[in-house]
Parts: sequence; C-alpha cells; structure tokens
Amino acid sequence: MHYSTSPIDRLDHLRADVNAISTIWHQQTTKIIPFWRNRVLIEQKGQQTPTLHPLTRNNVPGDAKFQTFLGATGEIHWFSVELAPDAEPDLGLLLQGTETDPAVCSFAELRVIGPHLPRDDGALAIYARAIGNWQNRSSFCPNCGQAAELVNAGHVRQCSNQDCGTQIFPRTDPAVIMLVTDKHDNNRCLLGRSKGWPDGVYSTLAGFVEAGESLEAAVAREVHEETGITVDDVRYVTSQPWPFPQSIMLGFNSVANDTEIKLNESELDDARWFTRQELAEFGEWGETSDRFKLPRRDSIARYLIEYWLNKPKLGA
Ligand SMILES: [Zn+2]
Repeated sequence: MHYSTSPIDRLDHLRADVNAISTIWHQQTTKIIPFWRNRVLIEQKGQQTPTLHPLTRNNVPGDAKFQTFLGATGEIHWFSVELAPDAEPDLGLLLQGTETDPAVCSFAELRVIGPHLPRDDGALAIYARAIGNWQNRSSFCPNCGQAAELVNAGHVRQCSNQDCGTQIFPRTDPAVIMLVTDKHDNNRCLLGRSKGWPDGVYSTLAGFVEAGESLEAAVAREVHEETGITVDDVRYVTSQPWPFPQSIMLGFNSVANDTEIKLNESELDDARWFTRQELAEFGEWGETSDRFKLPRRDSIARYLIEYWLNKPKLGA
C-alpha cells in the first residue's frame, strides 16, 4: 500500500550526535527534499512518472528552515527542509549548476501527486511531510507557552524556558477506518460518502479515536454514530501514515449485527450496502462518468475494499 512501507533506515541513534549530523549534511551525496507551502519539488518529463527531485546541499537556499535528518537509503543520506513560504522559489536558482532543466520541475501538492510517485518516493515524501507538519505546528511549549527549539536533527522540540525544560515529540493522531460487512450476507459491505466529495464516490467509514478510547470501541462508536448500525468482531488489517496534517489511519474489518441504516446527516451525505458485483462496476475517483466511484488508489480505504473483494466469500 502507498506510504506504508518505506525504503529508509531512520538511523535514529545518530540524531543527537551534532557532529555526525553536520558531517552527513556536508556530504556531496546527501539528498535534501525541499518543501514549499506543503508542496514538494518533483520532476516530470512529458508523460513519464513524476519523481521527487531532491537538492544537494549547495542548492539549498540560506533561508530554508527545519533542516531535518530523515535517515538513509543504502549509501544515500536524506534530509528535508522547508523553503521560505512568502515568495515562490526560483527554480532556476534552486537547480543552478545541475543538469536538470527547470522546465520539468515544479512544486506539487503532496496529497495530489503522492499516488503518482514511485512507492519509495511517496513513502519518503510522506515521512518528511509528517515531521514538517509537526515542526510547523509545535513552535511553543504546550506546558508553559515559551518558544520550543528543534533539537535531535529536527525530531524533538525542547522548551527554551530552563525552569520548564519540557521535551515535545512529533504527534500523530490515530484515526480508525473500517470496512463493515453484513453478518448474514458476506457478499455485501457498507460504504458511505461525505458531503463535498466528488459525485458518486463512496468509501469506508472512518473517524478519530477519542481520548481514553480503545481502537475497537472507536470503530464500533463511529459506525453506530454515522449509520445506526452495531458492529462487533473488529479485526485489525493494516495502517497508513496520513500526515494531512498529522494522522495515522488504522484499518479494520468489522461485522454488522443489523443492517438497517439510520443515516446521521450531520456526519454523512449517504451510506448504503453494496455487493461485490456492484463494486466491480465502480469507476475511479476523478473520472467524470455518472457511475459510482471507488476511493483514491493511494488510500487505505481502497486497500480495505480490495482486500475484502479478493478474499473468498464465506463458505466458498
Ligand atoms: Zn515549557
């Protein structure tokens, strides 16, 4: 699944070693992923697959911030940086002295370009975006309100108030997402759609885990809140980092005890049961037909649906 397997060794034991991090930063082979306003620099020639276009140290502007050590893929070390947000970066300057034509590079919204990147590039970019989002949202100590400085190569913030000294670590908000099947007819599953989605798109139900709540209880509560249906037999399937801005999606299967939908219109635009045969006729997110459509290819919702579709029916 997109973003869930990463090629990188995070080398977290090096983060606190200022000298080692500085040495790695200055290596000519080190690659630096630049972000600008949540957009990542990509290269795309014609109809070819887009790829990340990392910079070398010499091409990183002096006012870039959040120099973050990501780790290594083989012999290559990786950092990410955030470019100054106020003015659009000058691609000619960023690529000066390289063989890359600025005309084939652009800053692309990761949420849009992510599904089209090679899997390894996508996973690297998602990791960098996750830590960058946290850095942007954690400038002040939650304990005393003083400024908090980045340490450990970008992975920890340290409160600047010596009487406080709180360390702040990257935060990830857990969200559950679940495919619900019918206890009495395993040939159909429950999908819903939110207001504002493209016409015809249906997906698995989902919601945030609340404080003091188990994942299983969150699955059951969200399904019941949104559709009035009670579920049990909640089973974990897989997970996907989703740093838009700071979530991890935890994917489950669960089984409905009852099937009458009582739609919560404040949460969903619609919810219905679909059979495997009906799902086989669904189109793709983004197409303009009047068919029903599946969720995006890079989403865990899509994975959960396909995981279920490809399993044999009960008793088969
Ligand atoms: Zn503090």
